[in-house]
Parts: sequence; C-alpha cells; structure tokens
Amino acid sequence: RRQRQMCIRDSVEKLGGAYKGLLGKLDEAKRYLKMIENDSQNLSEELARVRLLSMTDELTDLPNRRALMRRLEDEMSRSQRYGFHLTLVLIDLDLFKNVNDEYGHAVGDTILTCYAEHILSTFRHHDMVARYGGEEFAVILPNTDLHGAMSALHKVQKEAAATTCHCGDVEIPAPTFSAGVALLHEDDNVESLLKRADDAMYEAKQLGRNQIIVDRQDRLRAQHSSNKTQTRDIN
Ligand code: GH3
Ligand code: MG
Ligand code: MG
Repeated sequence: RRQRQMCIRDSVEKLGGAYKGLLGKLDEAKRYLKMIENDSQNLSEELARVRLLSMTDELTDLPNRRALMRRLEDEMSRSQRYGFHLTLVLIDLDLFKNVNDEYGHAVGDTILTCYAEHILSTFRHHDMVARYGGEEFAVILPNTDLHGAMSALHKVQKEAAATTCHCGDVEIPAPTFSAGVALLHEDDNVESLLKRADDAMYEAKQLGRNQIIVDRQDRLRAQHSSNKTQTRDIN
C-alpha cells in the first residue's frame, strides 16, 4: 500500500512539473506573439510613412508629380462622368535661374518653399497644388471653369506681388510667375490636358512673362459660344 501511495505521489509530482513546464511554454508563446504583433504594427506604420514620402515633395512639402498624376486621373474621370468642370493650371516661376545665380541655390530653395507656403496657399483647400518639377507647380481645380480659375490666379498673382521672402539676412521680393490654363474637354486624356496647359504657359513666357494665358482651343471655344449668345440676343 505504501508503495502504491509513493507511486501516486510520484505521478502527481511529475504531472505538476509538466504543468509548470507547459505554463512556462505558454508564457513564452504569448511573448513571442506580442513581439510579432509589434513588428507588424511597426511595419504598417513604416509602410504608411514610405507611401506618404513617395507622394510628397521633400523641399516644399507639397504633393509631388506622382501624387498629382494620380489625383488628376481620378478627378478627370469623375468630372467627365458627371459633367463637372475641371481646370488645370501650370505655373512656372519667371527667370528663376537669375535668383540662383545672384543669391545661390540655397536661397533659391527657400524662395520655392516661401512660394508654396505663402503664395500658392491662396488656392482653395480642395484645389490640389503640387510641385510639378523644379520651379514649376501644377494646380487641379475641381468644379471650376475658366472664370473661376482666372479669378483664383489673379488672387495668387496679387499675393505674389505683395510677398517678400525672408532668406536668412536677405529679403527678396517673390518672383512673378507665368501660368497656362486649360479647361477639361470631354475627349481629353491626362496628356492632352497637360499639353494644352503647358502650351498656354509657354505662350505666356513668349508674351513677356508674368501673365496668365488660357489655352488657345479654350479661347476659341469661349469666343464661339459668346458669338452664339450675341446672335441669339440680336434675333
Ligand atoms: P523662365 O522665365 O523662362 O522660366 O526662366 P527660368 O530661369 O525660370 O527658366 P529655366 O528653365 O531657364 O531655369 C529654371 C531654373 O530653376 C534653373 C534651375 O536651377 C532652377 N531650379 C529648378 N529647381 C530648383 C530647385 O529645386 N532649387 C533651386 N534653388 N533652383 C531650382
Ligand atoms: Mg521651368
Ligand atoms: Mg521658370
């Protein structure tokens, strides 16, 4: 009997030991799981950061060209589907090379930042202002026709004329800009819309800079429709 009792006690002790071992393993597994959870949380945060970085211009903090192209495709298809107006504007700072040559590249950089922060911020919140490249910016104006775009641009032009950029010790008047404006047509694609805005911007440069020029096709269309209205008024 004594032998049986010892045998049972032995088994109970063994079971207790095994149970403790299992508890330890469970703890270890929990810790491991927690570690994996943290890792995956860190990874998704990192992914969000990288996504944002890949869409943001480092100097000005504005959306970059990639972000602009994505948004333009979205906004264009929405406008074309529902028949909303959409205007695209390209803005190129005038004679910017002279600024760099005169004050140095770092000052040029500060002026670009100043432009983004104090001048281009005049556009409405739902307009998308992006750094298109070097000293060139692009703006998508959803739900906006040529009149709306022109009045927005005139405000920005006034703001530029009134702004002085502080670059260390020197204060430099903000440079003027030349802008090309194009209204979205039913048959436009991203390239054709960008091209019309770019051609208009080039025309603004040719005409002596510091001006806002509407795409030639849009000007002709506007003229055509105003002629029609006049004819109707006469009849
Ligand atoms: P235009 O009125 O015909 O546009 O004259 P511009 O001098 O602005 O045009 P151009 O294309 O000859 O030169 C663009 C200048 O913009 C030259 C380049 O050094 C400067 N630029 C472009 N990107 C940057 C930038 O990130 N930082 C600085 N500091 N300068 C830049
Ligand atoms: Mg340029
Ligand atoms: Mg320029």
